[in-house]
Amino acid sequence: MMLSGVPKIFKARPGPHSPFEKAMTILGALPMFFFPVYWLVRDPLLLGAYCVSWALFFLTARRYECVRCLNFECPMNRVPAGVKEEFEKGDRLSGNFELSGKGIRESYSDRCSSLRVRHEFRDFLYWNFVTLVFLFSAGLAIGISSTGWLLAYIFIVFFHFDILEQRFFCTHCPYFVRGEKSLRCMMNWGWPKHFRPRPYPPGKFDLVITTLGFIIVILFPLPWLLKVPFLLGAYSISILLFLLTIWRYECIRCIYFGCPFNRVSVDVRKEFEKRKKFEKGKAS
Ligand code: SF4
Ligand code: SF4
Repeated sequence: MMLSGVPKIFKARPGPHSPFEKAMTILGALPMFFFPVYWLVRDPLLLGAYCVSWALFFLTARRYECVRCLNFECPMNRVPAGVKEEFEKGDRLSGNFELSGKGIRESYSDRCSSLRVRHEFRDFLYWNFVTLVFLFSAGLAIGISSTGWLLAYIFIVFFHFDILEQRFFCTHCPYFVRGEKSLRCMMNWGWPKHFRPRPYPPGKFDLVITTLGFIIVILFPLPWLLKVPFLLGAYSISILLFLLTIWRYECIRCIYFGCPFNRVSVDVRKEFEKRKKFEKGKAS
């Protein structure tokens, strides 16, 4: 994943890492982090961007890759003990696991149960940290020139996410029904619900309004960002990272099948819907 295409200089050494190897890895990594700090401290904005980039890198790797990585020796590895044991016992040969470039992949029926049926508070913390990076870049660029326009931008952002998106997109989302009076999903946690749930896919009109709202939120700060190229770069890269990360890691396991970005396969969707109906029938 990190060194794809780099020629191998050393032979493979399967088995646990020795204390010497661990110490050398840490000693090699530390200068890489700290070497540029001498120059970065002269520019607080660059230093902040540098720290935020590393924080995003580690949080994303820990959250999405370390939970399915085959390097069980790595101190960051978070594959559950039971899965490790089963893998090491050789269950992959019986078809319960599939090895691929992406790590451990679960079999067909397990993939269905690995859909995210609920989000946790830590999901909300992670996604709001990613969102704040580009909102902060935009807010800073506007705020440098005008407090009035900054207030207008804050109003537009709140109006879009709290009213427009909630009414036209979120009310159709299966995660919307969780929590009685307030939202409990990876993007909104504790925000009051202003509308009743609409448990069917969003229509074209809903999607058009949501998309228009997004386009306005994204394009509104551009005139100010163009005056500060560094913030424009940070804004563009953080939006790109947001979209790529959500598309790569969340849209493949999200149960909002009505969302145009959803990438759960048709077979898995059908099996999930069948199970849901069966569980509803059992409960009633
Ligand atoms: S996951 Fe659903 S409820 Fe949460 S923000 Fe997205 S659309 Fe809204
Ligand atoms: S499919 Fe992707 S973009 Fe759509 S609601 Fe789910 S996670 Fe968000």
